[in-house]
Amino acid sequence: MTKSTPEMANAEKTRRMESVAFVSLGCPKNLIDSERMLGLLAADGIAVTDDSNTADAIVINTCGFLEASRREALEVIRQAVESKNRAIRRGRSKRVVVAGCLVQRDKSRLLEEAPGIDALVGVFDRENIIAAVRGAAVIASPPADMGKFHAVTRMMGRHDRSRQGYTEQDGARLRLTPRHYAYLRISEGCNQGCTFCTIPGIRGRMRSKPLEQIIGEARELIADGARELNLIGQDTTSYGGDIGYNGPGQGLSGLLRTLDQLQDVGWIRLLYAYPSNFTDDMIRALADARRVVQYLDIPLQHINDEILHAMRRKVTRREIETLLDKLRRRVPGITIRTTFISGFPGETEAQHRELVDFVRQFGFDCLGVFEYSPEPETPAGRLWRTRGVPAAVAARRREEIMLTQQEIVFKKNAAMIGHTPGVLIDQADPRRRTAVGRYAGQAPDIDGQVRLHDCSVAAGELIQAVIEDWKHYDLIGRPLPATNGPREPRERRKPVRLPVASQ
Ligand code: SF4
Repeated sequence: MTKSTPEMANAEKTRRMESVAFVSLGCPKNLIDSERMLGLLAADGIAVTDDSNTADAIVINTCGFLEASRREALEVIRQAVESKNRAIRRGRSKRVVVAGCLVQRDKSRLLEEAPGIDALVGVFDRENIIAAVRGAAVIASPPADMGKFHAVTRMMGRHDRSRQGYTEQDGARLRLTPRHYAYLRISEGCNQGCTFCTIPGIRGRMRSKPLEQIIGEARELIADGARELNLIGQDTTSYGGDIGYNGPGQGLSGLLRTLDQLQDVGWIRLLYAYPSNFTDDMIRALADARRVVQYLDIPLQHINDEILHAMRRKVTRREIETLLDKLRRRVPGITIRTTFISGFPGETEAQHRELVDFVRQFGFDCLGVFEYSPEPETPAGRLWRTRGVPAAVAARRREEIMLTQQEIVFKKNAAMIGHTPGVLIDQADPRRRTAVGRYAGQAPDIDGQVRLHDCSVAAGELIQAVIEDWKHYDLIGRPLPATNGPREPRERRKPVRLPVASQ
């Protein structure tokens, strides 16, 4: 009789690792990491399932940006551990692997608060996901403070400062977005150092992806059916500065002009642009573009100078107003989206009123407001201990800004009646002859939509529609006859459904 060796036991374990359930939490940057890890797992022969009860492993790619996201991630991890414990009681094994920002931010507390995790994978160790899922006994640079958690496989590398730029592969992804749109990362990390933000501590300093690599990934996504590419990074305005793209026409403007030449793509959209150093050349690149849509997501966070200074935003009210004015004059019809924070430590009622008045006067096309979340390791988190705004006040201020914005959006929606924009179809219901899509001024997941009736269209088509009405944040319309004919059935890829997911 052959004796069982550790290698044979390992091989047996490997054979049994047939399926994984994957939960992706957080923002589109995390989503790209999830898609990359899923691509690696699938290429290694591990099936992706939406049934976490029967899966051999559950991977949770966490967000750790704010306290609320930490609570959400902990809840999902505890559910996964319960599922694992049920499997063990039935004589089966199951691994729980936790990856992403929360692991990078707070690994020790995570293990204390959610016992039962089998492997941790930090944001710089995404490529090791197969070993973590299969249970290989790899411990990459185990930090000294984790000695008591011997049983946990830890992949906790740090940003290698000797490497220039972002050269990790974001290609070969198993995408979680619908086939017709995708996120395309142009950089990782951030050098801005806003006092409320935990991101630089988690994702490291800014690293731009080389231009050729971005073009290669864009082509791969287009070949996979993407008709809309959404460019992301922590601070897209600063693209290229760290890898020597500093000459005239280089950096972000050069990237936009190069991407604008791509064939077979409908829309390219710029998200997360930091307001300082948004140059005239970048504005020209937006104005001249054909495929890069005239839409800019530019998080401003506040408008009062004292608060901007306390946030260390490196920009004043006057500079913001000058930039917004230029954008509106030089890129006619541009959609401008922003985000603000309500209840930043020390924010007075007068400063809040200044923000509300500014929102009313400028009339943003789209706007989001976050209540300030105290993060203890940040300068603003320390300021909050002495100058914190009560949560109820921050919530009331958020509501006031949102209601002010609502009036603006309703007026803008009414003004869209009679317009005939191009609409990219996100979902279609052939039986009811309805569809939901977006025109170029609406980004996926965060903005309103166009609801279409009397239509025979398919998801992924770019059609022309006439806007007839509006309801709340959405527009209502129907396709123009020339773009509403019966269609050849399109090849549809089976979507990967997640057990739990949030954006
Ligand atoms: S620019 Fe954005 S990611 Fe960078 S520190 Fe500021 S808020 Fe954080």
